Amino acid sequence: MSADSTAFDLVIRGGTVVTPQGPSQLDIGVRDGVIAALGAGLPKGQSEVDATGHIVLPGGIDSHCHMDQQPWEGRSSADDFRTGTLSAMCGGTTTVIPFAMQMRGQSLRAIVDDYYERARPKAHIDYSFHLVVGDPTPEVLSRELPALIAEGCTSIKIYLTYDGLKLDDYEVLQVLDLARREGAMVMVHAENDGCIRWLTERLLAERKTKIKYHVASHPDIGDREATYRAISLSELAEAPVLVAHVAAGAAVDEIRRAKARGVPIYAETCPQYLFLSADDLDTHDMSGAKCVCTPPPKHKDNQQHIWRGVLDGTLDCFTSDHSPINYVDKIAGGPDTPFTKIPLGVPGIETRLPLLFSAAVSGGRMTLLDFAEITATRAARLFGLYPRKGVIAVGSDADLAIWDPEKRVTITNTILHHATDYTPYEGMEVQGWPVTTISRGEVVWANGAVSSNAGRGKFIACERPLQRMTTPIAALKG
Ligand SMILES: [Zn+2]
Repeated sequence: MSADSTAFDLVIRGGTVVTPQGPSQLDIGVRDGVIAALGAGLPKGQSEVDATGHIVLPGGIDSHCHMDQQPWEGRSSADDFRTGTLSAMCGGTTTVIPFAMQMRGQSLRAIVDDYYERARPKAHIDYSFHLVVGDPTPEVLSRELPALIAEGCTSIKIYLTYDGLKLDDYEVLQVLDLARREGAMVMVHAENDGCIRWLTERLLAERKTKIKYHVASHPDIGDREATYRAISLSELAEAPVLVAHVAAGAAVDEIRRAKARGVPIYAETCPQYLFLSADDLDTHDMSGAKCVCTPPPKHKDNQQHIWRGVLDGTLDCFTSDHSPINYVDKIAGGPDTPFTKIPLGVPGIETRLPLLFSAAVSGGRMTLLDFAEITATRAARLFGLYPRKGVIAVGSDADLAIWDPEKRVTITNTILHHATDYTPYEGMEVQGWPVTTISRGEVVWANGAVSSNAGRGKFIACERPLQRMTTPIAALKG
């Protein structure tokens, strides 16, 4: 490795750099898209970025976001890979992991092949895919999944609710067994389907059709039960799970208890459970539809339980669950539309990091290192991207977000880069904003200007995040 003064393509100079050892004053030398040196007073690079007074964090990893997914229940995606990754990048994120979604009757392989083609010409930043398994047929379990995992799609998402997607407990165990043998991570959407169906029928029968009843139809008890069931099945099959978009404090409690007894359970939450609540769906007009997603934001006092889970480490990752549905489509049915007919999903891929930074870091409740962990490093570890992604270290990709911790921004949809026609955070003021994003050593976003081309982002094959297990599970030992 040459150490001469023209050795670096890029030097980021004078910033407070957040490495696994914590924040310190360092320069970052980049060569061929990779971090080649960290140190004080590095020699001049071919180009330089002055980060004086700013904070240099690992670029965010959004390990739960949706873009250009196949239409489902009449929903079509407002964001494709071009606008979805652009918006992510302008919000300080450098890697996204959206979902290739298989439903009953479909070939998972065909869905993934199609998804590659959707991403390849359009992505601005690097990406991998989670595999939604909605139909675990013998073909999917014995052939398609092992081959796809070997190709670098090493995480599986399953649902305990939704017609066309939900698996029964037996099928969940089959998927967990496969994941254990292959070393793949399984994410679970943990809501109780029967509770939702039963309450929805009762509410509709009582003509309780307003948007606010979406919250009542998704009870915390159902989240608690499904989370506990996912944990139990995970323990029986001896395959870790990651509980997706944890919304209810009661679910956080189950996860905390499982972790306390040493079970490898992981979990994520999202901005809508810290910054939105049931009150936002209880409006006189249809604007409450802007906050309709599943699980829904819960009652206001639930937010403190999610915050506790974020701050005490029970919740490992903070992701957007960006689900780009236009408001015009949400309200297309008119003012009498029952809550069951409002398309589900809230956008948030660009506001994810600033919202958390402002409330947690600027608010003095979270260290910069913990912020890096929950927004990037843990996702990299859990999904087989570490140490290539999610960390500022020599040898890692130069995926960086440079933050101005003093910058005050009022969030409004006009400043965002997604194609969705609203943000549920309209009018919220935050302190701290990612002013420069660097992807594999290229400045792609700086001072309000985009300098990136659609198609420059690459598919990143994930490593197997877990060890492959061939020994019998304890339940099978005589
Ligand atoms: Zn989702």
